[in-house]
Amino acid sequence: MAEEMDYLPNEIIRMVQLGLKQEVLESRSVWLCVGCLACVSECPNGISLPEMMDTLRQIALEEKAEVREPEVVAFHQEFLGQVKRYGRLYELGFMARYRMKSLPALRDIPNYMKFMFSGRLSLLPERIHKRVDMKKLNEVCHV
Ligand code: SF4
Repeated sequence: MAEEMDYLPNEIIRMVQLGLKQEVLESRSVWLCVGCLACVSECPNGISLPEMMDTLRQIALEEKAEVREPEVVAFHQEFLGQVKRYGRLYELGFMARYRMKSLPALRDIPNYMKFMFSGRLSLLPERIHKRVDMKKLNEVCHV
């Protein structure tokens, strides 16, 4: 993803160290990290960039920073909202709601139908069963 980022991940770390808060929170890089963990497996210092990027995203949302990746923000918020609601991802609901917020909503309907009829997507959401786990999730999941 580095080619798409405005600052390289190591530059983001340096900017954090230098206190360039606004620049970091408004950078595209924070939203373009896909959490693939490639950097984590290579980092000699054991730094978890994806965790850091997640934290920066959350701070950017809480502080209402100007975000230049609205589709990624919509994806992020909808994903966390689903996890908060059901304790897991309800794929069909997620895709429908995310598409409503981003691209033309009807575009992917043929794909949804195909996945549903092949049994890869369930029509109704499933919830995790341990209510205590849901409580913990809601404590850490700020959307
Ligand atoms: S997890 Fe690391 S390697 Fe993967 S996109 Fe994010 S910063 Fe880049």
